[in-house]
Amino acid sequence: MFLKKFTEGISEILFPKVCTVCGLRLATNENFVCHNCLNDKFEEAYRPGKGSTSDAMLPEGVYLQHALWNFDKGGYLQELLHQLKYHRLTGVGVDIGRQLGKSLLRNPHFMNRIKDRKVCLLPVPLYPKKRRMRGYNQAFYIAEGVAEVTGLYILKKDVIQRIKNTGTQTGFSLEKRRKNIDGAFQVIEPERVKDVLCVIIDDVFTTGATTFELSSELKKAGSGEIMIATAAQA
Ligand SMILES: [Zn+2]
Repeated sequence: MFLKKFTEGISEILFPKVCTVCGLRLATNENFVCHNCLNDKFEEAYRPGKGSTSDAMLPEGVYLQHALWNFDKGGYLQELLHQLKYHRLTGVGVDIGRQLGKSLLRNPHFMNRIKDRKVCLLPVPLYPKKRRMRGYNQAFYIAEGVAEVTGLYILKKDVIQRIKNTGTQTGFSLEKRRKNIDGAFQVIEPERVKDVLCVIIDDVFTTGATTFELSSELKKAGSGEIMIATAAQA
């Protein structure tokens, strides 16, 4: 115990933990991104009085779409999400997830809807091979942060599986994205989502092709209602 503390102390002196975004030293209660950056560096997407944070047309059964930040192409946020996706900075995901959770708590449309309902968080599943190669699902870590702040539970992994390797959708038109993602998900244990309000969690909401496809599978499986919560929206 002492040795562990001692080594931690030494490494703290040699390699002080710094914020992934601004590079300034982190306080002990900060994880990967400092509070300053979390609160000021990004543009909050939620506007009080509105339900969803974008004007995207939502398919039937999807009640709300809520993003934490507006996407700044080429800016801090892109870099941060890139770190989360490709550099194993899973702690960044939890930090972002907590912030997303707090943002959801401020949205009365979300809060009123989850009242007295069975609600689960559903990180968008990755294709198993892709998850193995990456070693983790970045959406899961965002969900962990959301769960911590809201008290909602994360749906057990593999209740819904991704059965189609869709590859990257970047640069695809909406129509191409939809075709590509069609039939990508399969609900393995429908009894776990039946009559449950599912909050789909993902990193970025772009055209909604992925989350809408997942929604339609959830709906077929008898899910109570669906909401979409993401770290960013394009
Ligand atoms: Zn910072």
